[in-house]
Amino acid sequence: MNILSNSLAAADIASTMHPNTNLRQHERTGPLVIERGEGIRVYDDRGKEYIEGLAGLWSVAVGFSEPRLAEAAYKQMLKLPYYHTFSSKSHEPSIRLAEKLVEMTPANINRAFFTSSGSEANDTIVKMAWYMNNALGRPNKKKFLSRIKGYHGITVASGSLTGLPINHRDFDLPVIPVHHLTCPHFYRFGAEGEDEAAFTARLLVELETVIATEGADTIAAFIGEPLMAAGGVLPPPAGYWEGVERICRANDILIVSDEVICGFGRLGTPFGCQKFGFTPDIMTLSKQITSSYMPFAAVMFSDAIYQAIADNSEKIGAFGHGFTASGHPVASAVALENLAIIEERDLMGNAARLEAQFQAGLRSFADHPLVGEARGTGLIGAVELVANKQTRKPFEKIGKAGAIASTIGHEEGLIFRAIGDQLALCPPLIITSDEVDEIMVRMGRTLDRLTGAIADEGL
Ligand code: PLP
Repeated sequence: MNILSNSLAAADIASTMHPNTNLRQHERTGPLVIERGEGIRVYDDRGKEYIEGLAGLWSVAVGFSEPRLAEAAYKQMLKLPYYHTFSSKSHEPSIRLAEKLVEMTPANINRAFFTSSGSEANDTIVKMAWYMNNALGRPNKKKFLSRIKGYHGITVASGSLTGLPINHRDFDLPVIPVHHLTCPHFYRFGAEGEDEAAFTARLLVELETVIATEGADTIAAFIGEPLMAAGGVLPPPAGYWEGVERICRANDILIVSDEVICGFGRLGTPFGCQKFGFTPDIMTLSKQITSSYMPFAAVMFSDAIYQAIADNSEKIGAFGHGFTASGHPVASAVALENLAIIEERDLMGNAARLEAQFQAGLRSFADHPLVGEARGTGLIGAVELVANKQTRKPFEKIGKAGAIASTIGHEEGLIFRAIGDQLALCPPLIITSDEVDEIMVRMGRTLDRLTGAIADEGL
């Protein structure tokens, strides 16, 4: 791209600091400026079309041109554009949404607390667990268990739960008491000669050992994404979640299912915990809740947790936590309309119906010389690029091949997310069977061109 010929790009470089971006690299290459969206596609400021193979940031269930969400926002803006939910104030959109989410989530989950982002929701969960355990006279029960490569956000507490070095390094994180367990990704973390069942067993022994060493009375909760997404799309090995649930229950440790990406049908079930057969005490919801048309997130939790917190709020004065935008009426109205569309068009069923085709398409790349593993479940997946297919050796400089693939992908009209050298796909839930094929054709072309490009770079 000729940066100087595009004044928007020049202004971006001059005035913006982008999230999750190599900033010096950005100064050299400039932004990809997206101007408009239509269905599963977006168009840049030169009119070039791309399939948004990651649904934005794993989040736009209904696609990029749903007028009903725009109308819902406009109507709510005209009626009541803002009101808060502090000090017993309320409004209908937030009440109706809480009711709807309680109805959609598993039977033991019956309360909602609203925030504007997944990170704020996970920070809220940390504070709720601490507040609750203080109230219950268990002041030492404060630690969190998380996993290496887990992603739970980037604020100070949620960033501590995250298990990715790039989110910790030079930010002085983690700062809350958290223990990161082994990542449950068999391809990378399985030991030589170990089969998947033995891998699962080893991870569960590790969990039991950490609990025994640290003391169950010091551990508040285990937090995990049902399928780890931002860490590289890493489905858990068989039996993993059942084992985690059994061990946490035996030790009175809360289970937090971070459903920010898996929630609302991404895996072909309403929530990811249902795909893997466990029942959480707390759930984090965001992204597809509004299709990201408005920033919004929810902490959903059980009555037992609510009762302990409510008792304490009466005792000490108030539950002193909340955000100006908690339960924002416009975002709540958009969420309600978005969830209605997901139901009316059976988009969760669409994900379940297209799963086999989407996963078969991805698996067809497993034979490609650059692909070490093709994996996923539901409408989410990834291919992992390797320097040596037989030994699974990664490239010397992780992320270079992924970045080149991303550039070629853009040229081929496909946006995916390069997580290091893992290329992730997570299309909008409105996708059709023909569009799944289109994604696979563009991905195939990208991988074929990548072979030559990598050789040219001497990787
Ligand atoms: N939890 C998970 C599983 C996520 O994938 C993300 C974001 O990708 C978050 C939490 C943080 O959400 P946010 O970026 O809205 O703060």
